[in-house]
Amino acid sequence: MWFAFRGQKLLVSTERPIPEIPSSVALEELGVSSLSEYYLGTSGNTHCHAVHLPKETEPPVNMNFLGLRGLFGHLNEDSYNIAVRALGIINWDRTHRFCGQCGSLAEKHSSMIARQCPTCGLTLFPRISPAVIVLVERNGKALLARSSRFQEELYSVIAGFVEPGETLEETVRREVKEETGIDTKNIRYFGSQPWPFPDSLMIAFTARYAGGEIKVDGEEILNAAWFSADQLPNIPGKISIARALIDWFVLKQAKTVRGGKKV
Ligand SMILES: [Zn+2]
Repeated sequence: MWFAFRGQKLLVSTERPIPEIPSSVALEELGVSSLSEYYLGTSGNTHCHAVHLPKETEPPVNMNFLGLRGLFGHLNEDSYNIAVRALGIINWDRTHRFCGQCGSLAEKHSSMIARQCPTCGLTLFPRISPAVIVLVERNGKALLARSSRFQEELYSVIAGFVEPGETLEETVRREVKEETGIDTKNIRYFGSQPWPFPDSLMIAFTARYAGGEIKVDGEEILNAAWFSADQLPNIPGKISIARALIDWFVLKQAKTVRGGKKV
């Protein structure tokens, strides 16, 4: 299967109602040539490749370029997960063509998903930027914030990139404090999600309120508030781990109500 990207968009066959990853025929036979290609291994018995296409590539007949976010829930889960991996590699391939140490054009590594500098020997691996994402609870309510990065009026859990030298727990405490003025405790791992837009790994946590009053900067964060499960604002779609955190919170509240005790 050929997970071929032009920019952020994946080449899919649109011949049938459900989009499919092109397979069996080599891309060259469809008149599509690649800038680079990485072998990803097999899915079942099928060999999978990540392919970086030039930006002027036109889609072959009965095919189209579609955004990965829009394809969530439409591609089968295996294909979607491999596409996420492929996009992470292609995004890195596009932005790390030269050696950061000496400036030479780096060559594709002979055996690994990496590039190697022919001049100084530096090996360049795909870049992954870790970011934490956290749902903070207080008396049965969740702390959600509206970021200025969101186009629509959307509230989500707090997120931010890990800085050099930080533990993940330190990032959680710093980001929640910086963005909302709230102190946190009982930080617990929840799960993780590769997020190749362009190169993040989201590491999710739950935490409890430890002190402070909500205070936002009005620039990066426009508003933040405590929301109960039955009065949630507009929240992110099912694709993201942010939504998985909020769904977990809602389910937990429902169980608490049924159990007749309050937390
Ligand atoms: Zn070099």
